[in-house]
Amino acid sequence: MPTILLVEDENTLAETLRYNLEREGYVVLLAHDGVQGLELARREQPGLLILDIMLPRLDGFSVCRILRQESDIPMIMLTARQDEVDRIAGLELGADDYVTKPFSLGELLARVRAILRRAERQPHSSNREVLEAGLLRVDTSSRRAWRDSDELSLPQKEFDLLTCLIRNRGIALSRDLLLERVWGLDFLGDSRTVDVHIRWLREKIEPDPARPRYIQTVRGVGYRFEAPMTELSPQEQN
Ligand code: CA
Repeated sequence: MPTILLVEDENTLAETLRYNLEREGYVVLLAHDGVQGLELARREQPGLLILDIMLPRLDGFSVCRILRQESDIPMIMLTARQDEVDRIAGLELGADDYVTKPFSLGELLARVRAILRRAERQPHSSNREVLEAGLLRVDTSSRRAWRDSDELSLPQKEFDLLTCLIRNRGIALSRDLLLERVWGLDFLGDSRTVDVHIRWLREKIEPDPARPRYIQTVRGVGYRFEAPMTELSPQEQN
């Protein structure tokens, strides 16, 4: 049976859903806020995500948007109000379905079954993951990266750092968090390691490393990746 990740901060609802999903035979993972949900989704690769929208730390829209850039995991969003449904339609975030609270258990379970059936029928898309931002393109399966049509020569840590930044675009990441994600918990260096690698990375990906457009410095925190809306390719600039 597939694993379902439930991201819901209302305890009573979360426990009720967990109980009933487990009774159906699913393995259920529970996260109580968006950041934890994102982490669990990445680590556990569940077969389906049930995602509340109003969540502490990181809302469901953001979780959906970030995960959609990385995977095609099926998602059902739980919305509390009708106007949120409109927002979903407008934002076209890529959720597979949504259920408006209050909903009946039977209704949710029916949708869970339908979506998992659909996902099963589709040949599982390969693990190929291509991240795009501005003129940058990163293929994590072949570990190759391009800026426009030029392939970048990135050593392992710079590649991992860039991948981590793009996956978390729009989010300020602390140096400690980047150290942990890219170098691992047992790494003995300090946060200057991050700064040095960011400098090297900027020299390769930024049109003007002195005025970075992709990797923004967040004072007192660390770095935030942004995909510039309008970056012209070198040919277009000429
Ligand atoms: Ca909530």
